[in-house]
Amino acid sequence: ESFKQGKQRYYIYKDAMKEGNISSLSLQNELYHALDKDQFEIWYQPQIDTVSSKVEGMEALIRWNHDTFGIISPSQFIPIAEETRWIIPIGTWVIRQVCQDLVTWLREGLSYKVSLNISYVQMEDEMFLTKVKEILEETGCPPHLLVFEITENMLMKDLALSLNVINELKILGIEIAVDDFGVGYSSLSYLKQFKLDCLKIDRSFVTHIHKDINDYAIVQAVTEMSQSMGLKVIAEGVESIEHVHLLQRLGCEHFQGYWYSKPVRKELLPEKIQTIHREKFISSQ
Ligand code: C2E
Ligand code: MG
Ligand code: MG
Ligand code: MG
Repeated sequence: ESFKQGKQRYYIYKDAMKEGNISSLSLQNELYHALDKDQFEIWYQPQIDTVSSKVEGMEALIRWNHDTFGIISPSQFIPIAEETRWIIPIGTWVIRQVCQDLVTWLREGLSYKVSLNISYVQMEDEMFLTKVKEILEETGCPPHLLVFEITENMLMKDLALSLNVINELKILGIEIAVDDFGVGYSSLSYLKQFKLDCLKIDRSFVTHIHKDINDYAIVQAVTEMSQSMGLKVIAEGVESIEHVHLLQRLGCEHFQGYWYSKPVRKELLPEKIQTIHREKFISSQ
């Protein structure tokens, strides 16, 4: 019942946004207070390794739980947070929250890799690396379980800055994934100068892979070349068993998408992971 209400509120909100009733200015004001009001939540989306048939980790995705509008998706407020640079404190909150969750799971005997999204504005912040170090110390989070996702476009924006920040993060022991790979214009050989661990193939190439020969060819090329470069590849936006089979045929072994699970609140994660193990692995062989 309460879920229904939340959903309903969400649609009212979306309609209002479409009609321009909620001005982006009032959203801005509210966003400014959201951190103090403790309205942000981290939802987690499982990432699957089909070789070991296991949930190997998850991506942390922020949600804004607004007191009247319900759950607001990041695509609606992250751009505002970036423009206003509030993404800096919000992003710090995300890193701390994820580190705390990771340590909690470790205490329960569960070891997962958790990736989180970093905005370009955070990378530009000269205090960024200091804050990351402080959070690692304060939470006791093992850095090798953390993956920072940086979009391909961010890497190209300022080469010297990205190289420096990535090097420093690698020294701390944090892994780096290139998010939304394929939508920018960088070549894999360009990426060679960064110390990367993982490429995430953008959802837009995966969605039509079963009917678009070009998308199929792109995913094939990216998978082959990244493997020869020693990079792990994760396919994003995997929504069907056809997707899984085609991607596996191309040599892709790591998956994230609605076929396995949507992002969920952390309370629901154990049950979700069990369901994936029970229902998804036999059929995907
Ligand atoms: P992203 O990092 O590329 O995250 C993947 C997005 O694709 C998520 O949307 C996820 O829910 C969605 N997705 C995953 N699998 C599927 C699928 O099979 N089908 C479809 N249709 N969608 C799928 P979400 O959670 O709405 O996040 C959108 C974007 O917002 C993220 O894209 C990321 O760029 C940004 N974002 C999310 N959390 C944060 C954060 O903490 N900090 C920053 N800076 N950005 C964030
Ligand atoms: Mg991401
Ligand atoms: Mg992505
Ligand atoms: Mg994306």
